[in-house]
Amino acid sequence: MNTIVVATGNLHKVQEMKQILEPYGYQVLGANECGGMPEVVEDGRTFRENAVKKAVAAAKALNRTVLADDSGLEVFALGGAPGVYSSRYAGEGGNDGRNLAKLLRNLEGVMEREARFVCVIAVASPDGTVEGTCEGEVRGRIATEAHGDGGFGYDPAFIPDGYTQTFGELPAAIKNSLSHRANALRAALHDIFHVE
Ligand code: IMP
Repeated sequence: MNTIVVATGNLHKVQEMKQILEPYGYQVLGANECGGMPEVVEDGRTFRENAVKKAVAAAKALNRTVLADDSGLEVFALGGAPGVYSSRYAGEGGNDGRNLAKLLRNLEGVMEREARFVCVIAVASPDGTVEGTCEGEVRGRIATEAHGDGGFGYDPAFIPDGYTQTFGELPAAIKNSLSHRANALRAALHDIFHVE
């Protein structure tokens, strides 16, 4: 079985990547399972810049080829916010509950609730070469209240197009078949790992 090391300390992301990549014959290991994720300041202006930064730092630190994900939520009525600031929307420290509460507060009374999750994947080799980047998205809308406790982050507020329930309520298998992360990883398998 091929192994992919993912440059993240977010166990939810590792779990999702396992569920998405294992059917393709890949074993997924989190950076914490093979030496630890180095400290990376995510100060890029785009998801791509941050994904590349994480992938390169971890590939060099672990001396392995690694895959990094940078992702977030863009709400059109908020001009694309929280965007690259998704994990620290309510302040440094990254608290999912406070971020979600701030989002719902900022959208109180707003009828235009269309949004998308975006994920950019970057793959880097041990010498710091970027082997490629890929993007995936899933479109949907923001519910007026949080529903469900599945997933992480903004999942309890995000209703993907074609569904009436949030990612927090839908089974993980459904989220992982249509999410921004699933779409970006499938693109990476095809374009970077050349899996048919
Ligand atoms: P990152 O770890 O810097 O990529 O930050 C990602 C942030 O975007 C997370 O902390 C969440 O707030 C949000 N996010 C990204 N992907 C998801 C998802 O699949 N569900 C819910 N929130 C997500």
